[in-house]
Amino acid sequence: MPYNELRKDYLLDRWVVIATERSRRPTDFAKQKKEPAKASVCPLCPGNEHMTPPAVLVYLKSNREIRKDKDENGFRPKNWLIRCVPNLFPAFAPPQAQIDPAQIMKSDSFGLAIGHHEVLVESPRHDEDPADAELPQLTHVINAYIDRLRELSAKPYVHYVSIFRNHGLEAGASLSHAHSQIIATPFVPTIVDEEIAASKNFWNQHERCIFCGIIERESKSPRLVHDNARFVVLAPYASVHPMEFWILPKKHDANLLNLTQTETKAFAETLKASLKALKDLVNDPPYNYGFHLSTNKDAENCYHWHLEVYPRLSIWAGFEKSTGVYINTVTPETATAELKKAILA
Ligand SMILES: [Zn+2]
Ligand SMILES: [Zn+2]
Ligand SMILES: [Zn+2]
Repeated sequence: MPYNELRKDYLLDRWVVIATERSRRPTDFAKQKKEPAKASVCPLCPGNEHMTPPAVLVYLKSNREIRKDKDENGFRPKNWLIRCVPNLFPAFAPPQAQIDPAQIMKSDSFGLAIGHHEVLVESPRHDEDPADAELPQLTHVINAYIDRLRELSAKPYVHYVSIFRNHGLEAGASLSHAHSQIIATPFVPTIVDEEIAASKNFWNQHERCIFCGIIERESKSPRLVHDNARFVVLAPYASVHPMEFWILPKKHDANLLNLTQTETKAFAETLKASLKALKDLVNDPPYNYGFHLSTNKDAENCYHWHLEVYPRLSIWAGFEKSTGVYINTVTPETATAELKKAILA
């Protein structure tokens, strides 16, 4: 009997058992959707702007242009397309006074959770879904990510800006209105930190970006889901989640701050197509996605930004939680074949 495969991540010291033997088909995961109970009053819907803290960024319709503004002097415009507000219960809160950044991480094992925690409302439409959104609206979302990344990463006490999205109740979306979250932290979170360290290591040995190499290699592999002029979508070799995929820009860059308008639009298009394929294939499963990037000067050559999408189709239990070794019952090659078909459909 053939054995299951043990695969190690491209960069991380993380192992996954790819269960080729008891391998499952993506459609096995399709199940009846649990609808979150719709709150009678949604604090993110137009008309309820007073229910959130004042917005730090709004995109307003102004003739055929977009005007960028923020809520000021008690005034909260209602004709917005995008609205970014501080989280009412922030995990990381802004400093109350001028703070010496050196006073935030006090020791190797103690620090203050100083930073920012924001909710980015992706659309005035409560039920908007990036898989079905109009492209101009989804492009506004990406532009707003970039605006917040620019502003937050410039703060002296911010060392990382995490931009992520929880889709569906089981993926942790407690509000059903379409939104993403942004958390700015006073340190670089572990997974990104380890990816950056591994990519630096690779750079020192080969003077090459490890991700540029992965893109080149995987483009000729059975793990290439989608390929257009500017982006590739691939199911990573050591995917931890069934149907996991990553979107990577072909042009080397450590973060999204230098994207042109054409590239931003192309990214929105690629994201929409991939999420639509996932939605069609597995009956709108819950998922999380998060950007990995670096705004640190010394990682600009070696690190390469990307978006990682983790469908929530399996439950991590005792083995995963107690060992950090994962079992994935859908091979990335099967995931690729199915997603590819769904994108073309
Ligand atoms: Zn709403
Ligand atoms: Zn690169
Ligand atoms: Zn990554």
